[in-house]
Amino acid sequence: MDRYRVAPGTQVDLSQWSTDDTPEAESKDEGKERFSVMNNRLEALQEVLYAQGKHKILIVLQAMDTGGKDGAIRHVFDGVNPQGVKVASFKVPTPLERAHDYLWRVHARTPAQGEIVIFNRSHYEDVLVVRVHNLVPEDVWSRRYEQINAFEKLLADEGTTILKFYLHISKEEQKERLQARLDDPSKHWKFSPGDLAERKFWPDYMAAYEAVLSRTSTDWAPWYIVPADRKWYRNLVISEVLVQTLAGLDLRFPEATESLDGVVIE
Ligand code: ADP
Repeated sequence: MDRYRVAPGTQVDLSQWSTDDTPEAESKDEGKERFSVMNNRLEALQEVLYAQGKHKILIVLQAMDTGGKDGAIRHVFDGVNPQGVKVASFKVPTPLERAHDYLWRVHARTPAQGEIVIFNRSHYEDVLVVRVHNLVPEDVWSRRYEQINAFEKLLADEGTTILKFYLHISKEEQKERLQARLDDPSKHWKFSPGDLAERKFWPDYMAAYEAVLSRTSTDWAPWYIVPADRKWYRNLVISEVLVQTLAGLDLRFPEATESLDGVVIE
């Protein structure tokens, strides 16, 4: 899955990154089978992560509307122990949040030892929607790439493993997904007319994402560009990267605090 990792310093042109190729799977069936194996492995790895209480894992999910953040969270983390996994969603900042610097609310939600925290949107909104709509002046948002790299370096230096996924869908796929939401009453709650307004800014968002992916993929917090038009493939890529990363940590169940030899339970 290394092909999806953005090497630091790469100038990303998203039109050159596929949204629907599935080169890592022979077929959908084979992909789904592998995903199910990954799911079980993730469950086992997360149990040890939680028991050991040592590592902190931060997963950042970013995507255009309908890009599949919610679906990825639901499927990739199916079966893990909810005690050790948290989702932090970042919406339009509240007045209290806005009264602080933009990383204040983000830092407060970062993982503690033994935890996996999934960011459903993140501090990257502060160089995405904020940039596209000029919510702060350019000289303010343009400094944020460096600030974000430094912030993530701090987290990494203090023991957080960071993985960032951009779920890459095509504009046509977004149209289909929005239409599906319109057509199905059980999906109406997900439909927001605001999404249609945002869709008009597609090229601006692509440029903003390209800047993010080009400037903030680092050795300590890499971005992965996930082809996300096919949901099963998106899930497979995320879970393989995650399992590979967790398997590379020194995960071990902790020793008993004292010898249990000869302990008898009456
Ligand atoms: P989602 O689309 O993630 O399921 P919502 O429909 O509630 O959830 O959308 C959250 C909204 O909050 C998005 O439009 C997003 O751009 C916006 N948002 C998030 N962070 C910021 C921010 N820092 N400044 C302005 N808007 C933000």
